Amino acid sequence: MEVKGRGRKRYIFDAGTGIRALGESLAVENEPLEAEIFLTHFHWDHIQGFPFFGPLQDPNARLRIHAPAQEGRTPAELLAAQMMEPFFPVSFDDFPSRPAVIEAGLSPWSDGTITVDAFRACHPSITFGFRIRSGGAVLVYFPDNEALPMLHEDQGRRYQQLVQFCAGADLLVHDAMYTNEEYPSRVGWGHSTYEQALALAADAGVKRLRLFHHAPERDDAALAAIEQNMRDDLAGSGSHLDVAAAFEGEALDLDSTVQT
Ligand SMILES: [Zn+2]
Ligand SMILES: [Zn+2]
Repeated sequence: MEVKGRGRKRYIFDAGTGIRALGESLAVENEPLEAEIFLTHFHWDHIQGFPFFGPLQDPNARLRIHAPAQEGRTPAELLAAQMMEPFFPVSFDDFPSRPAVIEAGLSPWSDGTITVDAFRACHPSITFGFRIRSGGAVLVYFPDNEALPMLHEDQGRRYQQLVQFCAGADLLVHDAMYTNEEYPSRVGWGHSTYEQALALAADAGVKRLRLFHHAPERDDAALAAIEQNMRDDLAGSGSHLDVAAAFEGEALDLDSTVQT
């Protein structure tokens, strides 16, 4: 997921296969890329595209990667491990862009244009969700998060903290991998149902919800049916929440939703 602030710099969240096409689209710009890349965690679907991100090959690109450490291993070690022989022909240290790798923690990060806060998600391995603020706009990104167990953890306090973290967002991009029928056999896998994502969006009073992390076996028709059911339910309850299944290439302007 790419976020554009008011300046030239780009902000990229996770590095799945989509980052390859993003690299190509950024390459047509005249000036070298300056970007901050935030990784929520190191599961394959979030790093698979990283070695194929074209700007890594540009010696003039200025790239910084922020990611959580994993049980004694630094993000730099983990990125290097992904590209070890024989998995990839170029080692991490040989990329001409010489990207900087920064260990991300839970304290806010800011460059004066955007601020990024992190929250520990309910997901195997150390996984973050991010609250991204720029101007008056707020975007919350939780690609991998199982919301339901948080309701039972610490007498529901963890869920309340999650609700606070998402509160009032102009856009919530949240894990919605399973149907209610699929979920019982996947409890503890670290992913939410459509209903869990919707409940969080309602509890946090967000304006828009984009369902994310689609189950690979679900096709567009199945997703469209789920989307329609949710909209029908929302219309019936008088809710104004804008809900849709996220798709590759979708662009949303959050500035226009912000009252200034
Ligand atoms: Zn994951
Ligand atoms: Zn994932």
